[in-house]
Amino acid sequence: MNDFVYENPTKILFGRGVIDQLGGELKRLGVRKVLLVYGGGSIKANGVYDSVIAQLSACGVAVVEHGGVRGNPVLSHVQEGIAKVRAEQIDLICGVGGGSVVDESKAIALGAASDIDVWEFFAKRETPQQALPVMAVLTLPATGSEMNGIAVVTNEETDEKNAIVCPALLNPKVSFMDPETTFSLSLQQTSFACTDILSHLMEGYLTTPAERLLVQDPVIEGVARSVMDSMAVIMKNPSDYDARAAFMWSATLGWSGICQAGIPAWGMPCHALEMPLSAVCDIAHGAGLSIIIPAWMRVAGARHEHRILQFGRRILGLDNPSSVDAVADVLTAYYRSIGSPVSCAEAGIDPDLDRLTNLAFDSFKQRGMHDYTKELITDIYKQSI
Ligand code: NAP
Ligand code: FE
Repeated sequence: MNDFVYENPTKILFGRGVIDQLGGELKRLGVRKVLLVYGGGSIKANGVYDSVIAQLSACGVAVVEHGGVRGNPVLSHVQEGIAKVRAEQIDLICGVGGGSVVDESKAIALGAASDIDVWEFFAKRETPQQALPVMAVLTLPATGSEMNGIAVVTNEETDEKNAIVCPALLNPKVSFMDPETTFSLSLQQTSFACTDILSHLMEGYLTTPAERLLVQDPVIEGVARSVMDSMAVIMKNPSDYDARAAFMWSATLGWSGICQAGIPAWGMPCHALEMPLSAVCDIAHGAGLSIIIPAWMRVAGARHEHRILQFGRRILGLDNPSSVDAVADVLTAYYRSIGSPVSCAEAGIDPDLDRLTNLAFDSFKQRGMHDYTKELITDIYKQSI
């Protein structure tokens, strides 16, 4: 077990109808004016927008709207949000939607509290000192952004998709999680969510050099199996409350840091390889991961053989997998079975591999993962074609 600091200041309200407590929580925090951040309209179609607006007007909190957040949120839209906060004297940023909306809310909260250009924090040239408070009404469980201090934004001028990690400033103060708000997700969106949740659980599990993790192994295996079990139920009945609830809470647990705390020397090679793909080709993050992970396993998996075989046995339920490739085959079949693409061709994209390689190489360097050479990175991308 490695030493660690674990900090998690988020209050979670989970269950049917929890949005009805939004007004009370805003009052408790003394909020008078919020920036309401949302995406392309799903919250208007499923009624969540109306519930949120009803709460805000009932408690007399003024609202400035900031809709139109894109999947894979972009810097220019973050900058527009920051300008609104400055012009309108906003107290709190309230994101209503999926991970993209919550991440953009955090980026706005960060940029609006400082005179420094917000991209400087994402480029790691500056260290954030303050941020406005954020709340999240989550409608798409996948990223864990509702209970972590991470935000991911794409600089569309350079195609850099960077993450910032700062729990003390960026964890939402309160997150509202009503599984019924996720009934309107299509099976396709749910399958992308599934691949993302599993990837968060897998990256540390697969890449640690540790033989055995006495706490983290059983915790990660249990949560990962719960994700796969609830996905199977949702595919039969998208409105099964218990399955949607299990899926939603598993996503939060999977990437709140609680599962990974203390794991020795782990990395996130698959996220480092996926982020250039979704930045350049603008595909869903989960779709990018189901393309990248089997390719990564086949090309770079030999160094993690022991952990990959254990993953095959304990999470995929294989009797005695003979090789890394055998595990990659079963994982590929699993992704296909839930409707997530396993190659660029299946996703209908034809990326420039040199461009991806250069972006990923920089990202590995930033993460201190110097064993990922340009040759190795290109080989993995070639395998994913
Ligand atoms: P998303 O981009 O937030 O949303 C995907 C789509 O789902 C959007 O079209 C959205 O529509 C729709 N949607 C959301 N809730 C819905 C609902 N209840 N019913 C119907 N449609 C709904 O997807 P995401 O996977 O949550 O977020 C992806 C982003 O998070 C990527 O940029 C990824 O890199 C990043 N990420 C962050 C972390 C982190 O720790 N912060 C971790 C992993 C990935 P609308 O736009 O109309 O709302
Ligand atoms: Fe992710």
